[in-house]
Amino acid sequence: MPELPEVETVKRTLNTLVAGKTIERVTVTLPRIIQRPANIEEFCDALSGHTIEQVERRGKFLRILLDGLTLVSHLRMEGRYGVFKAGEPVEKHTHVIFHLTDGSELRYKDVRQFGTMHLFRRDEEWGMPPLQKLGVEPLSEQFTPEVLTALLRKRRSFIKPVLLNQHVVVGIGNIYVDEALFRAGIHPLRPADELTDAECVRLHEAIIATLSEAVEAGGSSIKSYVNGQGEMGMFQHQLQMYGRQGEPCIRCGQIIEKSVVGGRGTHYCPRCQKHSQRAN
Ligand SMILES: [Zn+2]
Repeated sequence: MPELPEVETVKRTLNTLVAGKTIERVTVTLPRIIQRPANIEEFCDALSGHTIEQVERRGKFLRILLDGLTLVSHLRMEGRYGVFKAGEPVEKHTHVIFHLTDGSELRYKDVRQFGTMHLFRRDEEWGMPPLQKLGVEPLSEQFTPEVLTALLRKRRSFIKPVLLNQHVVVGIGNIYVDEALFRAGIHPLRPADELTDAECVRLHEAIIATLSEAVEAGGSSIKSYVNGQGEMGMFQHQLQMYGRQGEPCIRCGQIIEKSVVGGRGTHYCPRCQKHSQRAN
């Protein structure tokens, strides 16, 4: 599932590919992707004739800003955008096509069909789901060690599910949470409200470092997306922990373990990420 860095990459790529372009009409072949308005014709009519000004990101959501409108798009598991010339064969699982006046098409493809789109009048989106109750942006100035510490003090659950909760901190998913906890030397099963001040500071630094390095890695791959098929989505990024169960920890050589925390596959180093607080 795309997390903050991947969505940020899609955002940047869309800005290079479609900002300034005008939508002539929209075709929707899988109505359930469109969550708002309920009427698909209304969705298509509302967008026709509008110009894409800019694409922004809030958590894992894309905010496609048009003159007077905001289209909020969540890629969920496998949603992807691609820019094609009109008349190019339409790939299977393409569910929404934005026909642009310059003869190109912005196509949304989603094999798993979990992605969503909500259309709002500009700025109306902040007061309504799905953006209404989102937590702090980890790569913003609002995300300070004090803010993170205060958020964690209020939560008794394990630290991993707390960090995955988009109402607390946005943009972190199952891959980057394992990376950030490893960097901070914190076991995923530590209760959030029992982290020490020093651990909260380490975690704050680790979250920012993990996400910003991944954003940079994504940024460097933008070119290949544009030059290739014009398709954007997940990219491979060097990971120190996620998916490396059974391999040695890069820091201490101990074998990385995998267990299930809050229903999610979880990777950690049993030596670098001690379960008991005293060991830290
Ligand atoms: Zn280790």
